[in-house]
Amino acid sequence: MNIDLHNHTKRCKHADGECEEYIQAAIVCGIDIFGFADHAPMKFDERYRMDIDEVESYIDEVSHLREIYKDKIDIRVGFEVDYIHKKEYLIEPKVLNSDVDYLIGSVHFLNNWGFDNEEFLGVYKNVDINKIWIEYLDSIANMAQSGYFDIVGHFDLLKIFNNKPHKELQKYIINALESIKDNNMVIEINTAGLRKMIKEIYPSYDILQLVHKMEIPITFSSDAHNPTQVGFMKDSALNLAKKIGFNKVVSFKKREREIYDF
Ligand SMILES: [Zn+2]
Ligand SMILES: [Zn+2]
Repeated sequence: MNIDLHNHTKRCKHADGECEEYIQAAIVCGIDIFGFADHAPMKFDERYRMDIDEVESYIDEVSHLREIYKDKIDIRVGFEVDYIHKKEYLIEPKVLNSDVDYLIGSVHFLNNWGFDNEEFLGVYKNVDINKIWIEYLDSIANMAQSGYFDIVGHFDLLKIFNNKPHKELQKYIINALESIKDNNMVIEINTAGLRKMIKEIYPSYDILQLVHKMEIPITFSSDAHNPTQVGFMKDSALNLAKKIGFNKVVSFKKREREIYDF
C-alpha cells in the first residue's frame, strides 16, 4: 500500500501545478492513496498560503477529481495548518470545521520567525540553537495537546539547515512524542528533508526508533510542491520504516483512521 498524504497545489502561491497534474503523477508513481494538504488560510504570512475564500473551491475541485479518477487512485483532501505557539487564535475555525479527510499540524514559525525559510537564514547566527530546539519541541507538544490535528508534519523540521538536535535534547524529544501519543496523533515520514540542505528524511532514524518503540503510528508523505516531487524518494521512506520495524501505515477518511499493511 503506497500512501502520500502531504501535497501542495498552486493555491498556496509557492507551489506549482494543477491538482490534476499531481494526481496524474501519483498514478504514474503507483500511489494508491494520494492526499492534498495545502497550506491552510490564516491571517498571517498570507503570501505563502491559500486565501480563506478558496477553501470551498479547493475541497470541491479535489472532490470532483476524486470521482473522475476513482478507478485509478484513491484521492483525499486535507490541510496543512500552521501551529504558532501563543498565536493559536490565528487558526481559522473555518479550516478546523472544514469537510476534509485529515488535518496536518505543522510548526514552521517560532514567534514570527519562519525558521525553514532561506530568506531568514541570518537569524540562526543570533540564536542559541539548543534553546531554539527546546522552544520548537515544546511547540510541537503544545500543538499535539491542542487536539486539533490528525498528523504531525515533519516532526524535526528545525534540522533543515543542518542544525540537528544535540543528544541532551532527547528528553524534550521524548516529551513531544509523549504528547503526540497521548493525543492520538500520527507521525508522517516526510521525504522533503532529502531535498533540503540536511539531506535527511523527517524524522531522523533515531527519532523514528523512538516513534516505533512508543507505538506511535506512521504515514508517508513527499510534501510535493510540484507534480515532479510526488512520491519523491518513496522507496527510501518505505525501506527506512521497514528497517525500523514498522509494518502498518495509517490514512484518514473524513477524520477517521484507516490502517493498512505495507
Ligand atoms: Zn509549502
Ligand atoms: Zn510544512
